[in-house]
Amino acid sequence: MKNVAVIPGDGVGPEVINATETVLSEMPVELKFTEYPAGDAALEDRGAALPDETLTGAREADAVLLGAIGDSAADVVIRLRQELDTFVNLRPIKGYPGVDCICPETDMVIVRENTECLYAGIESNIASGVTTATRVITEYASKRIARYAFDYARSEGRDLVSAIHKNNVLPVTGGQFLAAVDEVAAEFSVELEDVLVDAAALHLVRYPRRFEVILTTNLFGDILSDLAAGIVGGLGLSPSANIGEDHGIFEPVHGTAPDIAGTGKVNPTGAILSGSYMLKFLGEGELAKKLEKAVEKTLHEGKTTPDLGGSLTTAEMTEAVLKRLP
Ligand code: ATP
Repeated sequence: MKNVAVIPGDGVGPEVINATETVLSEMPVELKFTEYPAGDAALEDRGAALPDETLTGAREADAVLLGAIGDSAADVVIRLRQELDTFVNLRPIKGYPGVDCICPETDMVIVRENTECLYAGIESNIASGVTTATRVITEYASKRIARYAFDYARSEGRDLVSAIHKNNVLPVTGGQFLAAVDEVAAEFSVELEDVLVDAAALHLVRYPRRFEVILTTNLFGDILSDLAAGIVGGLGLSPSANIGEDHGIFEPVHGTAPDIAGTGKVNPTGAILSGSYMLKFLGEGELAKKLEKAVEKTLHEGKTTPDLGGSLTTAEMTEAVLKRLP
């Protein structure tokens, strides 16, 4: 029996988490789901966006399933990632047959450093009208994320790692990152290239197939993964996994989508695929593949919510995925 801490959160979070729990509950794996409060509603009800019981529950669980957090995201998502030291944010970006998009052949993974950069939370108002933010890039964290990316490339049969940076403007922090990446790359027989983040944004839209594994720092990874999600059909499809030595937090890339919250139209795919990454993390790789195949079939047959041109509700699309599970 594996214990899963469930944090539905705000906006569409509870809807996509409900869909994911529904699917996972029908699979031949023993999961015990325990729900915990966090986010804007928790802040209002309990005075804490991330109550102590939630942090403890997340720490003690075998994995965490998270929906979406509203305005208090920094106090919940970023804090959870730091407290549980989930130093990798893995964001697969893949075109699915049947989904209308810019480049259906896209198949890349973004490996984003998850603990530092401008997310270190060091912002100051140093004088009236003058503010600063500190970008923290360490050799330790850069080597750790680079090793994960190269290991991942090797184990998944990928030939190229693209390190994305802005070294021409940020030579000290960018230089630290690239030096660490170079050193780790020497241990692997996987090709490494480095690309400026602005050029990478252009290439992502014009030639997305050239990328296999993107390795980058926290903020660039955040922005590029939304851009890349747009290439394959939008935010509703994109899963993510936050992975560390001892913990895993699984959440869709999208936010609380307040414009569609409560309408029953949110696409549950990103959350369900995050659930499949959770299965893999929990040692259920075969089940994870079966779940991804069921999602693929569902998309291929056009059984989708309105964001992908379909007319199904969240519950109907979830049911369609369930029906396609072997
Ligand atoms: P937040 O402030 O929480 O990040 P947001 O609206 O700024 O919320 P997202 O939640 O990421 O950002 O949504 C961006 C757009 O994509 C919205 O128009 C939203 O409706 C749409 N969207 C996001 N996720 C989904 C989904 N799962 N299904 C359908 N549409 C989605």
